[in-house]
Amino acid sequence: MLSITTPLANIKGLPSRFLLKFQKLTIKTVRDLLWHFPTRYEDFSTTVKIADLETNQTATIQGFIRKVALRRTFRKRMVVVEATIADDTAAITAIWFNQPFIAKNLRIGHLANFAGKVSAGDEGLFLSNPSYELVTGAVGETRHTAGLIPTYPETKGLTSKGIRYLMRVILGNVAPIEDFIPPDILLKNRLPEVNTALHAIHSPKTLEEAAAGKKRFAFEDLFLLQINNIKARLELAKEKAPSLPVGEEDLHAIIAKLPFQLTPSQHQSLHEIVEDIGKARPMNRLLQGDVGSGKTVIAAIAAIIAAKNGYQTAFMAPTEVLARQHYKTLTTIFGHLRIPIGMLTSSESKIFFEEGLASDIKKSEAQKRIESGEIKIIIGTHAIIQKSIAFKSLALAIVDEQHRFGVSQRAALLAQKQKALVPHFLSMSATPIPRTLTLTIFGDLDLSLITELPVGRKPIITKVVAPENRANAYAFVRGEVKKGRQAFVICPRIEKAEHVEGEALSTLGAAWSEVKAVKEEYEKLSQKVFPDLKVGMLHGKLKSAEKAKIMADFSEKNLDILVSTSVVEVGVDIPNATIMLIEGAERFGLSQLYQFRGRVGRGEHQSFCLLFTDSSSESAARRLQSLLEAKNGFELAEKDLAIRGPGEFLGESQTGLPDLAMQALNNMELVKLARAAAAAVIKKDQTLKSHPALKEKFASFRKQIHLE
Ligand code: ADP
Ligand code: MG
Repeated sequence: MLSITTPLANIKGLPSRFLLKFQKLTIKTVRDLLWHFPTRYEDFSTTVKIADLETNQTATIQGFIRKVALRRTFRKRMVVVEATIADDTAAITAIWFNQPFIAKNLRIGHLANFAGKVSAGDEGLFLSNPSYELVTGAVGETRHTAGLIPTYPETKGLTSKGIRYLMRVILGNVAPIEDFIPPDILLKNRLPEVNTALHAIHSPKTLEEAAAGKKRFAFEDLFLLQINNIKARLELAKEKAPSLPVGEEDLHAIIAKLPFQLTPSQHQSLHEIVEDIGKARPMNRLLQGDVGSGKTVIAAIAAIIAAKNGYQTAFMAPTEVLARQHYKTLTTIFGHLRIPIGMLTSSESKIFFEEGLASDIKKSEAQKRIESGEIKIIIGTHAIIQKSIAFKSLALAIVDEQHRFGVSQRAALLAQKQKALVPHFLSMSATPIPRTLTLTIFGDLDLSLITELPVGRKPIITKVVAPENRANAYAFVRGEVKKGRQAFVICPRIEKAEHVEGEALSTLGAAWSEVKAVKEEYEKLSQKVFPDLKVGMLHGKLKSAEKAKIMADFSEKNLDILVSTSVVEVGVDIPNATIMLIEGAERFGLSQLYQFRGRVGRGEHQSFCLLFTDSSSESAARRLQSLLEAKNGFELAEKDLAIRGPGEFLGESQTGLPDLAMQALNNMELVKLARAAAAAVIKKDQTLKSHPALKEKFASFRKQIHLE
């Protein structure tokens, strides 16, 4: 008997050549192999007589091998194996390309099954590249060509057939696996137990059976994720946080001094946050709202409340450009309150004093004033909570546009625990996160939503520009600039066709080609298209001081057009910019395009978003069309999730979730079932002590998804 931890190397009779190939698929143990799931199934469940075959049919035939020939095509230099197969009704030719070894396997005179697609050629019907299997024992024994045939993710030299062969051996010899999901939960959710599910996946009798097997494993990950969320909530609820109360009148006074009226959902969100931070247990909240919906001011008011209570706030932005912008916003809008606000990034540090004056200070000086507790609100990149900065009394951490990294920052915050107090945590995101994800990956967070834009914003006119209208579009941009407006031009990263052995370009290479694309576009626009206008360029390879200078130039209207990579994707606020021109629009995700578009339409003037695309693909056109039609970011996020999968939101490497679970994140019904099941288990047994298998599995799951 094999156990699931048995290395494949210990299996007798498995050639080492074969083993190496499995290793390429990172399959080393029996468990790895059993959890290598098929991507699809082919239905060869019925055998057809050769005389009854029809063009384009997928079928299995059984017949004797009459003739086998190996030849080379003259023009394309391919090796072709041709075999003639006959049953009691007729004969047919089967053809394989570039698989010369097949000629040796097919023995003339033997009975064999062939399964594949029937095509019509000059000399009648033929089977192209069929699966085949010699019939040795009883007919029912054949695996590859009768019934549902699983097709696996393959590697060079290791075919689905090879994987099916080993899988059959292993499934027949593995000791029963202990199921970590409690039986009552399986029963309630009508899911097969683990051994049944594995058999159902690898050798199903029907597609329904296979689907039930897959559903079980998808449920498994969602269930663990939900246990994690519920436990995280319970554990946080046990922690103490500094209570940051604010009187009704004081709050009104702060709001009354704002240069604008808050929208209803800004009010609502603020109310939720104020309520949370007033309590002596840590807030863990995500403030979500479309680009330009005014999240910053809401977060800033929370920081002001903390300061009025004598506590510090760390306000973290994903880029230095944004940190500077937040510093400017806060010191402008709340300058009259004379609260010391500091900014600290790797390239500069500033402080806004109680006297209402701002000045540059040395970094060490800034650090000292943070440690002394003098600076109440510290704005910076997220390094500020992870590096050597010791806050005197940190009570609130705000993370802007960072849903992707929220997890590690929350962990860093728990480490910042001061006098046994955990700071309140507020993260903000303009990338609308689909509901299934807020229930799963972000399920440990409370949500506040800003659902409308401030009044007076004009909807942005969005157009897809065909290649032949490029000159017109440029003329339009020039016209707007002449009226005093400004434009962004965004370039996509160009994925070169230089694939190394099937691997995509390294991240570094891809980022580099993004820079190259921007440089080329910049040269074209500044020299040929708009030689009379002031064109600037921004990309990730610039030093941060250079980036800051360019953003400042653009913001102060010293530049008319800014050519940029996706660096400007998040947060930047330039009300005078009214045109967002996006090159290669089809290469971006919908949510990303939505984010870009949100960079304009922030001021009083009519704004435009021009989507350039060279792609003639229908699906690209359909995706861009949905950007034109979408009412809000949430709608787009759901679409993006359906089209591109959760990796788009989470970054594949961030989650560590297997493919199946990633797909399951789309399945609201399953998400809800998993949540209910997890809640039921935790309610009875918070530490999982009565479910040792589940407890152990949960611990390794947390490692896998990078929580530990
Ligand atoms: P985001 O939610 O994308 O972070 P910001 O907080 O940057 O948006 O706000 C965008 C702009 O809208 C800022 O210039 C901000 O001052 C302004 N703003 C915020 N709330 C309102 C409001 N209620 N009415 C008018 N303008 C507002
Ligand atoms: Mg913002």
